[in-house]
Amino acid sequence: MPKPVAYFSMEIAIDSAIPTYSGGLGVLAGDTIKAAADLGVPMIAVTLLHRKGYVRQSFSPEGWQMEAPEHWEPEQLLVRCQPVVDVPLRDRILHVQAWKRLEVGVSGHTVPVIFLDTDVPENTEPDRRITDSLYGGDQNMRILQELVLGVGGARMVKALGYPANTLYHMNEGHAAFLLLELLPDGWERHGGTDVDRVRHHAVFTTHTPVAAGHDVFSAPMLEEHLGAGLLAKAAPLIENGALNMTRLAMRFSGTVNAVARKHMDVTKRMFPESELLAITNGVHAVRWTAAPFAKLFDRHLPGWRQRSEQLRQASIIPTEEIGEAHREAREQLLHLIQARYGMPFGGSGILIGFARRSTEYKRPLLLFRNLPRLMEIAAQFGPINILFAGKAHPRDDWGKHLLKQVHEIAAKSGDLVRVAILPNYDTGLAASLVAGVDLWLNTPRAPLEASGTSGMKCALNGVPSLSVADGWWLEGGIQGVTGWVIKSPLNEGGTGAIEQDDADAHALYEQLERHVLPCFANHPDQWLEVMRNAISVNGSFFNTHRMVDQYRMLAYERFA
Ligand SMILES: *Cc1c(COP(=O)(O)O)cnc(C)c1O
Repeated sequence: MPKPVAYFSMEIAIDSAIPTYSGGLGVLAGDTIKAAADLGVPMIAVTLLHRKGYVRQSFSPEGWQMEAPEHWEPEQLLVRCQPVVDVPLRDRILHVQAWKRLEVGVSGHTVPVIFLDTDVPENTEPDRRITDSLYGGDQNMRILQELVLGVGGARMVKALGYPANTLYHMNEGHAAFLLLELLPDGWERHGGTDVDRVRHHAVFTTHTPVAAGHDVFSAPMLEEHLGAGLLAKAAPLIENGALNMTRLAMRFSGTVNAVARKHMDVTKRMFPESELLAITNGVHAVRWTAAPFAKLFDRHLPGWRQRSEQLRQASIIPTEEIGEAHREAREQLLHLIQARYGMPFGGSGILIGFARRSTEYKRPLLLFRNLPRLMEIAAQFGPINILFAGKAHPRDDWGKHLLKQVHEIAAKSGDLVRVAILPNYDTGLAASLVAGVDLWLNTPRAPLEASGTSGMKCALNGVPSLSVADGWWLEGGIQGVTGWVIKSPLNEGGTGAIEQDDADAHALYEQLERHVLPCFANHPDQWLEVMRNAISVNGSFFNTHRMVDQYRMLAYERFA
């Protein structure tokens, strides 16, 4: 019998009606759970309830992001579980209850998803709000949320009857307090066996080379919040006056992995003491394949729902049918934009999608760095239409400034280069966008994109990417075959951001002018081939069926 896997993630995007995620980390978690359900992995997933979601985004007339809570009704969508567990804090006990949803796989296997909730009458009023807002509040709120997730989550898994040999998989370092919960008192004096036991039951996936993605809690902060038992276990791990959650997770996890090969190299440089694997991310094929393509696959590739690698045989699908399915998906996207935003959009020319969290390293302005040059290219090949979406974190003023600048460009845009901003990016909009655009653009500042997943969603719908050589695209991008690769001598960084951005923008325009648009405008047959290759080469591999299989072989069954 394989060991049960308890999969911990601060955010999980499992259903478009449950807004308990902010971006890629949560979507990956949702897609992992869906694949585990399909493949019969004995998994239980744990997250926080986030009663007020992340943020509902709108814009002021000047283009400044405004945020409101995203209300939803857990009572309508989830079932309350019986157990209530305690999380001991320095001066009080937190009571944590849980809500459950069952994710049902393609053959009927289920994975329970547990949403932890501190809104119980036994808690003080401020404590009842701890599980309200994803990434809301200050560092004090963050450490409390992570204690609920790590300690409350581990206790809840036990209270729900999971056995002692359960394996704990941490999706990012937010849940690493669970390791302190698993370690025995006085672990540092016990010699190796207790620590090895924990290590053989812990898997850690790190997700970003960006510093803000790695939580660090100061010693006073730990003393302020942790109960005495946990604090004593944490004390030997404090370095330079603080506890680094990534180092904690790496130290006590028997298997540590990065989310793409390049990300593994970058992470090794950041944490030279760690042994690391690379398990490249994927997306859940059935979730992200739009209806017109799902119909096509059902007809030509029966079995693709059970095993996504069947998409490899997409080369037998006639390209005319791929073109027809794409026209349908494009229509559906334009309908959605009309219905959701009251915005007519369409007309001739290429439709480019750019959507992700708005943050500096993702460089949403790179395409517009030399606007006259972009207009000149459009004058040669026809209008360039850009659909833009993404939320900035409420405290990321830089990310909000970028959005404001995109608004200013959109306001000026004319017939040659047209930009439309679609507020409140979420998985519902993403599903239509990744299928309905003609081309997906991704311009991170290398090497900061750990993996990226939107381009994988696109590939399932035959939408090629034009993307910087970073993250997953270093593995999936084949110039002129699955899409186009933005590569410049300064791609690797190290020179200074301005020089790197100039060089990458130049390379981006070169790709558009010499390769992408000539193919789109003048060689429709060749374009259809690229679409089909995106499905057969990338859709068949960059999916969570393959990814969860690798987790099983390389991590879950490693210390069987
Ligand atoms: C897929 C997805 C993301 C993640 O996109 P990346 O390309 O990995 O940055 C973020 N937000 C939503 C709503 C998504 O569907």
